[in-house]
Amino acid sequence: MSVAEKMDEAAGGLSQEEESQIFDTLDKWLERDVRPVVKKFDHADEYPRDIVEQMKEMGLFGAIIKQEYGGLGMSALTYARVVFKISEVWMALTGIFNSHLIMATLVQRFGTEEQKRRFLPRFATGELRGGLGLTEPDAGTDLQGIRTKAMKQGDHYIVNGTKTWITNGVEGTCFAVLVKTDPEAQPRHKGMSFIIMEKGPGFTVSKRIQKLGYKSIDSAELVFQDFKVPVGNLVGGKEGQGFYQAAGGLEIGRINVAARGVGIATASLKDSVRYAQQRKTFGKAIAEHQAIQLKLGDMATKVEAARLLTEHAAMAYDRGERCDMEAGMAKLYASEAAVENSLDAMRIHGGYSYSKDFDVERYFRDAPLMTIGEGTNELQRIIIAKQLVARNKI
Ligand SMILES: Cc1cc2nc3c(=O)[nH]c(=O)nc-3n(C[C@H](O)[C@H](O)[C@H](O)COP(=O)(O)OP(=O)(O)OC[C@H]3O[C@@H](n4cnc5c(N)ncnc54)[C@H](O)[C@@H]3O)c2cc1C
Repeated sequence: MSVAEKMDEAAGGLSQEEESQIFDTLDKWLERDVRPVVKKFDHADEYPRDIVEQMKEMGLFGAIIKQEYGGLGMSALTYARVVFKISEVWMALTGIFNSHLIMATLVQRFGTEEQKRRFLPRFATGELRGGLGLTEPDAGTDLQGIRTKAMKQGDHYIVNGTKTWITNGVEGTCFAVLVKTDPEAQPRHKGMSFIIMEKGPGFTVSKRIQKLGYKSIDSAELVFQDFKVPVGNLVGGKEGQGFYQAAGGLEIGRINVAARGVGIATASLKDSVRYAQQRKTFGKAIAEHQAIQLKLGDMATKVEAARLLTEHAAMAYDRGERCDMEAGMAKLYASEAAVENSLDAMRIHGGYSYSKDFDVERYFRDAPLMTIGEGTNELQRIIIAKQLVARNKI
């Protein structure tokens, strides 16, 4: 894809006025419909069905899908800012539409025109919802080690294998699944392809995974047993493109995870600034103790740095530039900032941080996922280093 095509594909078509309307609606919705019920849903680990319906109505399932296919056509920058806001209130909600939107990005970027027309409008309304199936019980970081196979038989593929940790795996019905279409290919990535798979006979959920945090949203193990999927669902219509397509789809995924990290880091800071002024020890607010001030100073600086790195990566994406290094840096820094700020928020809240009456215990349970999802932070460092050398060849 040329840079011009990528720019056309990526850049959003929203005016500033439309953007501020979206942010305004979002702010009102978060305060009215989401904030009051987060603890209830999170503690019960219950899927927030009504909230998902409201997200559908707001068009969030089509946030970065082009308007010609029924989406909102947001730029990556606007999308990142939407994710900042939602994650500041409840990070897990963003997972419900993010993995779905990575699937949509794969179709929008690499699908045939027929696939775009068939899938994107239904993805945009949320009628067809799901996510991305990469990880397997024995292959996560080393994606080329996947074993799920799709073998061609006439005008269908027959799929066999297991995917695990799949976000929206129970509630979703449609997934972009990474498979081996040529298990013997060398190098291994040449035998990998993405196929869009809608649930049906032979495609079942074998387990809902119980988690430390990221509650309410479903993570599942999916099993394919002689599952038949039409050849027409092979993304782009050509085998062997899956590994390259995954890299393209994951850039937006990493920008999203970075934005979620910014949200958690910001919430941790805001709650701490408020609490530090309310809580008194030794005759003064703890905000007046230098030890607490040092924490607040570091936390605020990390929020700003994480936000700027994330916006920088999103702007590079919107310009149609290769941005795996920028997205990797943003994801690495913002996720670590989320973990560190959530822990500092706990220290500032003292014993109350351990109580389920305070949100900081949720930030602390949710933050570590940001260091793992869409490629671990170890992998991000490797990607950054490789790009650094590639861009500075001597
Ligand atoms: C809540 C949750 C939701 C998820 N959602 C999805 C989803 O929707 N779809 C999906 O496909 N997957 C999903 N995942 C899976 C996630 O992407 C993987 O867990 C992640 O990629 C890491 O893979 P792994 O768990 O197999 O770890 P491994 O690959 O086994 O890695 C174990 C450790 O070794 C390190 N490591 C591995 N290779 C290297 C190396 N070459 N150099 C240095 N260190 C290395 C890793 O960084 C890590 O620290 C989800 C995971 C979680 C926890």
